[in-house]
Order: sequence, then structure tokens, then C-alpha cells
Amino acid sequence: MSKRLQDLLSSALFVCAILAGTVVAKYALYSGGSDPFERQRLEMVQNQIATSGYWGRDPVIDKKVLEAMRTVPRHKFVPTAIRSRAYNDSPLPIGHGQTISQPYIVAYMTEMLECDKDAVTLEIGTGSGYQAAVLSRIAKKVYTIEIVKALGEEAAERLKELKYKNVECRVGDGYYGWEEHGPFDAIVVTAATSHIPPPLLEQLKPGGRMAIPVGPPMHVQQLMLIVKQKDGSIIKRSVMAVRFVPFIGKAEGGKGPGQSAPTE
Ligand code: SAH
Repeated sequence: MSKRLQDLLSSALFVCAILAGTVVAKYALYSGGSDPFERQRLEMVQNQIATSGYWGRDPVIDKKVLEAMRTVPRHKFVPTAIRSRAYNDSPLPIGHGQTISQPYIVAYMTEMLECDKDAVTLEIGTGSGYQAAVLSRIAKKVYTIEIVKALGEEAAERLKELKYKNVECRVGDGYYGWEEHGPFDAIVVTAATSHIPPPLLEQLKPGGRMAIPVGPPMHVQQLMLIVKQKDGSIIKRSVMAVRFVPFIGKAEGGKGPGQSAPTE
């Protein structure tokens, strides 16, 4: 082979290597390297949560909450068959008539709690475990209770596999809270109650905050912010209209789990 041909070939190879490198780098940036859903997750935060978007909703601005939403792999908390919809702007079915809440609602409720890294928190309604995982990125500890045994056990297994070590799960009726670990800096209830369960109010620390949807099942409810003042008095504020699956158990006259449910 002539010297000139050799030079031409090595220049062509060099150009090819640069092009291939660019493509790989671009792909890694978009796909997050080993996580093919990273791009969708970043877009979810950008388009649905951190900006008012199409719906004119209040953007979530807390940096810690946005970072948690960027890192927790939501697709691992939904059934495999609907993974491709994990980052849609909607709740999704997780079995047993229950749903994983819409990403914006998870972020908004987490922001309402104003947790710091020392916060000990309680969630009622573990469901898939997603809200607990998000909260665990911000708080020191998350205790979470689920009334549907199969869901509670699956979520505990999932959270363990994904190494969310500061989340502790329990199966039971969350109406009574989790007294041994209280009082809590923050409580988040992810099913709609007809009233605020008094044990949860009792287990809230002075200065603590609770986010809870209150209203009739299967209808629009009010997402309430409850703040327990230092002197123990309670301030309640309605922050937005929401639709959550119903709270079951003691609060609703002892009805057992298994009712079908729509929305958040
Ligand atoms: N936070 C969940 C979404 C939960 S949907 C997530 O991130 O995926 C609401 C959940 O509350 C359902 O799983 C439902 O079974 C549960 N639930 C309803 N009533 C409850 C009660 N009394 N105690 C504990 N969990 C309850």
C-alpha cells in the first residue's frame, strides 16, 4: 500500500473515531449512561414540576425536592407493563385498585412538609413506596404504613432492593399512626380521609407539618396543610383541589381494603 493511501486511511479512521465518540457521548448524556429513563425523568421535573407548564400550576421550587424527583427511579415503582408511562403527568395503577400519585403531587406534598435532614417523618399509604423513597432523600427517617398487605410487602421488598435504608415499612391501618416512633416532624397522608385522624394530630410534633387530602371518597377533595404551633394549637389551610384514592379502615367505618379507586 502506498504511503499516501496509508495516510488517507488513517485520517479516515481518525474522523470515524471522533464521530463515534461524539455519538456515544451524546447518547450517554441523554440516556444517563446506564439509566435509559434518566432523560424522561429530567424532562418530567423540568416540564411538569419546576415550571407552571400548561396547567398554570404553582411550580415546586424547593431544590432538595427537585433533586429527589430527579434521582428516584419512578419506573421501578410501577408495574413492568406500564414502565414506559412512568414519567407521564398522571397517576398510574399499581394493582389492588390503588395508584401511584402523579409526580407533581408527590413533589408538591413533599415540599409542603418543609423537612430538613434531621426530620423524622411518617407516611400513611405506602402504595408503591415511591413517595416514601422521595421523602427519604430529604428527611432522616421515613416510617410508612400500608393497609393492603400485598402492596405493603411488595413496597418493603422494593425499597430494600433499591437500598432506601432509612425507610421502615409496616402493614396496618394508618389511622392510628405509629406511636412508638412519634412524635413526627412531618406526616404525609396519601389517601383521602373524611376527617383528620386525631391520632395523627397527636403524633405531630409542635412545629410539625402534615399534608393530607380531606373530603369525600371518589370526589374532589381539598389538600390540607396542617401546622401544629409550638403551643400545640393547630392551623389548617386548604391548598388545592385533588383527587386521591379513598382512605380505608377505621376512618371510614372499618371498611376493609380492596375497594376500587381512581386518580392520584
Ligand atoms: N404513596 C403511594 C400512593 C398511595 S395510593 C405511592 O407513592 O405509591 C394510597 C394508598 O393508601 C393505597 O395503597 C391504599 O391501600 C393506602 N391506604 C388507604 N387507607 C389506608 C389506611 N387506613 N392505612 C394505611 N394505608 C392506607
